[in-house]
Amino acid sequence: MQQQPEPQTAPKPLPKGLQAAREARAARAAAGLPTVRTTPLEKLAAHPTSLRASINAKCYQCEGEDADPKVRHRIGSCLVTSCGLWAVRPYQHMSMGSDDGDQEDQGEADEE
Ligand code: SF4
Repeated sequence: MQQQPEPQTAPKPLPKGLQAAREARAARAAAGLPTVRTTPLEKLAAHPTSLRASINAKCYQCEGEDADPKVRHRIGSCLVTSCGLWAVRPYQHMSMGSDDGDQEDQGEADEE
């Protein structure tokens, strides 16, 4: 029995918002401007009616905020599939087995 070659799969594209944030950060860095970092809770305080900010803040709190390193990876790798937020949790691109964005996790905070 011959084995079928594994199909070539293209890397999963980044979510639009993340791509836009990366481009904005690169533009700020190119202009010599400092990086401003905010936590998901600070983002929620700035945008209290944003559903995305609310979801991100809830997952951030659920995973212990920044008490331990790699909070983004913990959220992306969340195994609580019964949670109502699981399908829309942030940082899914950082789930286990993916190193994408690992360097961004150093500060454990989102950029505004
Ligand atoms: S999806 Fe996971 S990390 Fe987010 S609130 Fe639910 S259990 Fe917590």
